[in-house]
Amino acid sequence: TAAFDVAKVREDFPILHQSLNGKPLVYFDNAATTQKPRTVIDAISHYYQNYNANIHRGIHTLAEKATAEYERTRQTVRAFIGAAHAEEIIFTRGTTEGINLVAATYGRQNLKAGDEVIVSHMEHHSNIVPWQMLCEEKGATLRVIPITDSGELVLEEYAKLLSEKTKIVSVVFASNSLGTINPIADIIRQAHAVGAKVMIDGAQATSHLDVDVQAIDCDFYAFSSHKLYGPTGIGVLYGKKELLEAMPPYQGGGEMISDVSFARTTYNDLPYKFEAGTPNIADTIALRAAIEYINQWGKPVIAQYEDSLLQHATTRLQNIDGVRLIGTAKHKVSVNSFVVDGIHPFDLGVMLDAKGIAVRTGQHCTQPLMERLCIEGTSRASFALYNTIEEIDYFADCLEAIVRKYR
Ligand code: PMP
Repeated sequence: TAAFDVAKVREDFPILHQSLNGKPLVYFDNAATTQKPRTVIDAISHYYQNYNANIHRGIHTLAEKATAEYERTRQTVRAFIGAAHAEEIIFTRGTTEGINLVAATYGRQNLKAGDEVIVSHMEHHSNIVPWQMLCEEKGATLRVIPITDSGELVLEEYAKLLSEKTKIVSVVFASNSLGTINPIADIIRQAHAVGAKVMIDGAQATSHLDVDVQAIDCDFYAFSSHKLYGPTGIGVLYGKKELLEAMPPYQGGGEMISDVSFARTTYNDLPYKFEAGTPNIADTIALRAAIEYINQWGKPVIAQYEDSLLQHATTRLQNIDGVRLIGTAKHKVSVNSFVVDGIHPFDLGVMLDAKGIAVRTGQHCTQPLMERLCIEGTSRASFALYNTIEEIDYFADCLEAIVRKYR
């Protein structure tokens, strides 16, 4: 890995070098989506300019090249998350589709009336609604792991929720609204002890934390490329091979079949059984460039740098009278959510935007979490490897001035 140099990193991201409202752009909305390095952008246009072709069925040279590049990403992803087999890597549109896929296939096949699914109180809507829909269909019950006021799971309560009725536990690795990093290895071990399968929502965690699906022993793991410097419209579902093999297909169509007749259709092998239709070839290929970009620095180096940003921002925000941090867990990814008494998050977002600062405001697709914390929403500054201490100081200075003026 190369020596980490944020000035050099920033050169790799063309979008950062612009002004917004007359101010240099400060992009602090990385938990929503990250910016893309030039290598990712170039991988997309290089594909379209040089070897655009449909994959897997062509025997001509371009189709073979496109297929090889598409499958190379699968190998890269396999290594990136520590999966045992490339066919355990299913390409999806993103985290949302990965969770829906598991709910609609594994869930439909294995849940019956009276069974239970466990999620936590800090889940993104995409890790609530698919299970709710499944439970409704099956007459099963959705159970919720409570959280503390500081935004950590109450593990003693989790232990009490587990029983032989529990079929699926689905929890977020790192919360998009609070930053909390959950002890997923422990959660998985306890679920397995009662025979439940575990799905991990890795949307926020995968760009910051080391992920080793075999070490943590999760059954399913989903993440989105666009949150780790890759393009939108592509994501990954990891599943243990024996589970994926036993599951029915998700969508029917081309590519997912082995033999089709009107009397009977047989399905393709993994992973193609779950990849019906022409996939998002260009963005899959560019996802490899994004992972290679992360690997070039190494996740421990990135995590350490982002942690220094988080610590600095936390200290600065704690020292602004009237600002209250939401989510003060011991272990956090680089997300700072906060409220300012007397200023609506939306107004705050608009005022910061006028200073060139992009933050997210609102419920962050975690409405039950906001209700639990008795707040309407938060403003959220989330950091990535190209952000700087200087940006955080500028942001904190602007916030302090706004709070002083309007509160
Ligand atoms: N889970 C979490 C924790 C997230 O932060 C997000 C994206 N905000 C999702 C799931 C959904 O990801 P996507 O919209 O890329 O499918």
